[in-house]
Amino acid sequence: MDPEPLEPLDETWERALCVVAHPDDMEFGAAAAVARWTGQGKTVGYCMVTSGEAGIDGLAPDECRDVREAEQVESARLVGVDHVEFLGLPDGVLEYGVPLRAAIARAVRAFRPDVVVTGNFRDTWGGRTLNQADHIATGRAVLDAVRDASNRWVFADQLGSADGLEPWGGVREVWAFGSPRATHGVDTTATFDVGVASLEAHRAYLDGLGWKDFDAREMLEGFSRPTGQRLGVAFAASFEVVPMGWGD
Ligand SMILES: [Zn+2]
Repeated sequence: MDPEPLEPLDETWERALCVVAHPDDMEFGAAAAVARWTGQGKTVGYCMVTSGEAGIDGLAPDECRDVREAEQVESARLVGVDHVEFLGLPDGVLEYGVPLRAAIARAVRAFRPDVVVTGNFRDTWGGRTLNQADHIATGRAVLDAVRDASNRWVFADQLGSADGLEPWGGVREVWAFGSPRATHGVDTTATFDVGVASLEAHRAYLDGLGWKDFDAREMLEGFSRPTGQRLGVAFAASFEVVPMGWGD
């Protein structure tokens, strides 16, 4: 049986905000797609819910935080992203709930994106490989926070403040990369190499994983080649598309 074909993702937009749980999440799923988009002149921002400070076994969180933030900023720069913010919520123990929604809604109101990108929030990656709790909490909260951002009576304390925030209802869709329910894809063939470099920028993190003979290019090829086949290109990234309007 042939794998299910993917539709090309919409590229008629100007601004995207990527909201993910950890530094490195974008690089394992979507950095090459981001490089393609910034190459088209679009503006993409990164919003990291945590600083990944619990991600390196041999490094205590207070030291790890700065290392991982610096790696993420460099990794973003390589794919044409200048705006990188860290919400500072606790790595590893994120909870879906109102405080998480509020923090993400604030970021959406400030950035005013047309689309919001997040990571897979389903229970698994397909098959039996379990997803991680922070990813699930973040993606679920993103879906709700995008709606919250448009409602002036929700998190009303954020509005009209010194930050000059207003409600923002301009997000057309939320896109979750790496989802087992992906229906759409982005051709990353031309930007594949910069995607690899963007993952390799997480040097301290990758070393800390202690994966013997880890090869960023090989791993990304392993994800991108089968996805590319579904889109009819060499390499691609896949996305689940969640429309934020009514009637879809
Ligand atoms: Zn992660």
